Amino acid sequence: MSGALTAIAHQVCPRCRRGPIFRAPLWRGFLAMHDRCPQCGLKYEREPGYFLGALYFSYLLSIPPALAIVLLIWRLTAWRFDLVMLCGFVAYLPLVPAVTRWARVIWMYVDRHFDPDEPRP
Ligand SMILES: [Zn+2]
Repeated sequence: MSGALTAIAHQVCPRCRRGPIFRAPLWRGFLAMHDRCPQCGLKYEREPGYFLGALYFSYLLSIPPALAIVLLIWRLTAWRFDLVMLCGFVAYLPLVPAVTRWARVIWMYVDRHFDPDEPRP
């Protein structure tokens, strides 16, 4: 399990755990992915719409930082609640690309853990 966590942290292929998933650093194209693993040839997007499953993880990953930002603003200011929520939302926006990437990586690992077969017909 720690091997998987390390591989997720390095954002590498869920099968060989060597090939990179993304083609460029986050700031140069946050969803620029390889179609296949450069090391083992695993097709990352198994089927059309495959990464919709990543939305669940995106949601889960979003809650802690968004909540922390809102609570911090709430604590540091005497603003109305709706203004705190709005500012919290805006302050969270820069984190969206990173969260989206991590959600895709985690989704691929979870999906392939339960369904390790090669691309579905
Ligand atoms: Zn691979």
